[in-house]
Amino acid sequence: MSLTRWFSDPDGSYVLIRRLIAENAREHLPGYALTVVFMALIAGSTAASAWIMRDVINEVFINRDKAMITLISVAVMGIFAVKGFATFGQQVLMSRIGNAIVARIQNRLFQVITRQDMAFFDHTPLGDLTTRLAHNSQAARGVIDMVILSLGRDVLSVIGLVSVMVLQDPALSVVALLIMPPAVFGVSLLVRRVRKHARSQFVSTTRIVSAMQETTIGIRVVKAFRVEERMRQEMGKAIRDVEHRSNRIASLTARTSPLMETLGGFAVAMVIFYGGYSVVERGQDPGAFFAFITALLLAYEPVKRLARLQVNLNTSLVGVRLMYEMLDRPPSYADRQGSAELAVPKGEVRFEGVAFSYGEAPALNGLSFTAEAGKVTALVGGSGAGKSTTFSLIERFYDVSSGRVLIDGQDIRDVTLASLRDHIALVTQDTFLFDLSIRDNIALGRPGASDGDIIRAAMDANAHEFIEAQAQGYDTMVGEGGGRLSGGQRQRIAIARAMLRNAPILLLDEATSALDAESEAKVQGALKRLMQGRTTLVIAHRLATVRDADRILVFDRGQVVEAGTHDELVARDGLYRRLADLQFRDAAERSAS
Ligand code: ADP
Repeated sequence: MSLTRWFSDPDGSYVLIRRLIAENAREHLPGYALTVVFMALIAGSTAASAWIMRDVINEVFINRDKAMITLISVAVMGIFAVKGFATFGQQVLMSRIGNAIVARIQNRLFQVITRQDMAFFDHTPLGDLTTRLAHNSQAARGVIDMVILSLGRDVLSVIGLVSVMVLQDPALSVVALLIMPPAVFGVSLLVRRVRKHARSQFVSTTRIVSAMQETTIGIRVVKAFRVEERMRQEMGKAIRDVEHRSNRIASLTARTSPLMETLGGFAVAMVIFYGGYSVVERGQDPGAFFAFITALLLAYEPVKRLARLQVNLNTSLVGVRLMYEMLDRPPSYADRQGSAELAVPKGEVRFEGVAFSYGEAPALNGLSFTAEAGKVTALVGGSGAGKSTTFSLIERFYDVSSGRVLIDGQDIRDVTLASLRDHIALVTQDTFLFDLSIRDNIALGRPGASDGDIIRAAMDANAHEFIEAQAQGYDTMVGEGGGRLSGGQRQRIAIARAMLRNAPILLLDEATSALDAESEAKVQGALKRLMQGRTTLVIAHRLATVRDADRILVFDRGQVVEAGTHDELVARDGLYRRLADLQFRDAAERSAS
């Protein structure tokens, strides 16, 4: 391998390390400065312990100076005490700084992730994100620690010890340093192989996390359809792969030991051979020889660590690369320069020739309609007709491919996202609750709302009564995903949340699953109150809803194909009539009975 190859930076490792340190270490400069002082003390005391061997041999053993015995013993104790305390200080300081760096990176990662759009979440497995947050931030800390520890402690120690060697015996130093070129060459070969395995190991770790998450989230389906075996196999495969990769990395890392031990042994043997010969045959200073050999033996550990550093560094750099891949993602949609605040005096929602597709096939295909201010507009149509997509575009979870979405005449791409979403309340059919108290779940509708407002919203949502009946009332924790509440209760909490938000535009995705009659009546009553005075778009599954709607839009293949009231549409005997016969038959039967 040529020298330029060794010093060149084909895959940007050094650039990456420089960036990592520049971004994270700078604010901890005083801490690191103190760390370096401790490290210098460690290196200095290590060198001193070698240097003192000369006096041990010459003064104690050869000159038999009694006074020196005490003096040297005290000095040795002092040297090691300094080394011990300096090591303590250095370790505590570096851990503190390291933990602060991990915390900061995790915060930044989470911030970047929450600024991504729906398409990002559609395409990024949860396991990938979790692994990045947990592992990659640690990898970054690992790299910084390694660089600082080895540059600080190990390089300083080696410099100190080599100085002792050169000062005691320059000729012998040359003999000892002969092993450097083969060591560098051997290590660089290992580094390249480690890199390959480290990246694959991350991919498999992600698969483990994903499989675990899928199993727990879908545990009912997993058990009901008895796919445990398949999940086990998938998990087993990912685990085996990580095991295999970890073993490869471990054995490659460990390979630095036989390499360095053999070369080191060779160096020590050469020194003993040549040095011993000089002392015995040519009567050279035996103290200097002992000091030299002590320094050489002590230099051995830090040199070995420096050799391993190359290998370890490259394992961790894979994580750092993945971390920057995420950190460098621009926010998916920033507000346009000079975006205005959305003003909603009336609340009219209008689609003008909107086309949109998630991938290849269009989900919306020249969609045009107007939902009048303060009125209830019902969206009906077969599954996959584009109703949910319409909601997603109003919330601007995605941007339209062509056409415009207007609220009171303003293109929603020209206003800030925050002001847009503040004017919309969304109630979905899979009412998602956070693992917080009931109070906090409702308060999400309007952060900073008073207790009075929250209770009023709950009353309007027909939820106050059952909330009061809970063991801790409004402070009752709802459990993960609201698991401790019934479906109807969850829906009423979601309605209370929307009540509190008090937005002029309401997007309502009616629940398809039937509730018991009493819950149903309570939910309906709450919804009625919620819709009052707002522009409501509702994806309708119930006959009562379409009957009461001011206008019905019939969706088919991403377009509105019929529009009118229930009676008008039934009279027309078109798609709506057929849909109504199918979709609302059950409901009709139920209400008739
Ligand atoms: P509806 O709500 O009327 O059932 P959707 O708006 O959910 O219809 O779906 C319209 C089309 O877009 C369907 O063909 C559906 O397969 C597709 N689609 C919906 N959501 C996604 C998504 N997140 N990624 C890719 N395709 C999607």
